[in-house]
Amino acid sequence: MKYFDYAATTPPHPDVVRTISEIMETQFGNASSIHGYGERADQLLRRARAGCAAAIGVKADEIIFTSGATESNNLAIKGAALRYASRGKHIITTAAEHASVYESVLQFQQWGWDVTFLPVDSGGMVTAEQVTDVLRSDTVLVSLMHVNNETGAVHPVQEIGRQLKQKAPKVLFHVDGVQGFGKLPVAPARWQADLYSLSAHKVRGPKGTGLLYVRDGVELTPLLSGGSQEHGLRAGTENVAMIVGMAKAMRIASEAQPDFARRIQVLRDRMIDTIAVIPGLELNSTKDGAPHIVNFSYPGMKAEVALHTLEQLGCTVSTQSACSSRSAEPSRVLLAMGRDAACAAGGLRISFGDEHTEEDAAMLEQALHQMVAQLRPLERR
Ligand code: PLP
Repeated sequence: MKYFDYAATTPPHPDVVRTISEIMETQFGNASSIHGYGERADQLLRRARAGCAAAIGVKADEIIFTSGATESNNLAIKGAALRYASRGKHIITTAAEHASVYESVLQFQQWGWDVTFLPVDSGGMVTAEQVTDVLRSDTVLVSLMHVNNETGAVHPVQEIGRQLKQKAPKVLFHVDGVQGFGKLPVAPARWQADLYSLSAHKVRGPKGTGLLYVRDGVELTPLLSGGSQEHGLRAGTENVAMIVGMAKAMRIASEAQPDFARRIQVLRDRMIDTIAVIPGLELNSTKDGAPHIVNFSYPGMKAEVALHTLEQLGCTVSTQSACSSRSAEPSRVLLAMGRDAACAAGGLRISFGDEHTEEDAAMLEQALHQMVAQLRPLERR
């Protein structure tokens, strides 16, 4: 069986596993304790913080460790909106965000805030002008993703940051960076992002571990009450072993990024060319997107049927995003891109990782041809 669902999660890197188990076996101290056990844990935490910061080109004290990007996105949006509510009650986002952003802003909408959901184009993107056109004097926050997790569409985050800060320097800019890190060059500080979320398990790190970059000077209302860990922004004893594992995974991923992109986009392009000529399949990704994601629809077939057929043929892919794939609803992202209901309900995602080769792509190509040949007689007409 070959796994082509790296955008959902990745197998932990062997060096990461080794590092984590070594720490779990030898360093169990609480990083807040002042005795030797605590100091050793704190030292590991400091080193990991510096390592994570270096991997994204920011300062160590701008990193807040969290339980993953879901928490980072919640903290960024809710923490900023609550802290700066006196400036106004307007949030700008896009119609194609991850559920952790989408549901967070919906909550504020229910509490009486105004949320502008920018429409995306047929490629899944918004422009900087779209963002600045809807700015208001009461706008507090702009939140959008670098790379879309379902389609691989890439937002022009640097240009958005530039135009946003030129027009409205006080409006906070949050970037959900989960699917971009390790795949494309990233530079939250250069993008003028105030807040930037990451999750370790998307880059061969451990699950349940992530971070939020909080630019110097930006304040947030914490979501968890308790101790003063993480500059008072995220109470709770830090999971030192997993955090060190994340730092290791981030270093490996950032060093390998240029090579990863060069190698993997060849497989992505090959897959796009294959899908384009298989009758009955429709592409939802382009060669301008992130190097690791290809989304396509099989409108004549239920996505689960297509997925299980591919699985029987030895290839694991995904329907929608992992967090939404058990939902019977059509993809909100594909609908936002203007796809019809059949297309949005039949969306499938292939996502590549660093271990994939030309042989793997060839196997997947063959499986796609075979899947359609097998399912053709069952297609809805
Ligand atoms: N944002 C994006 C773009 C994602 O792809 C994901 C995970 O799929 C998340 C946020 C949430 O990450 P986690 O599930 O690790 O909290």
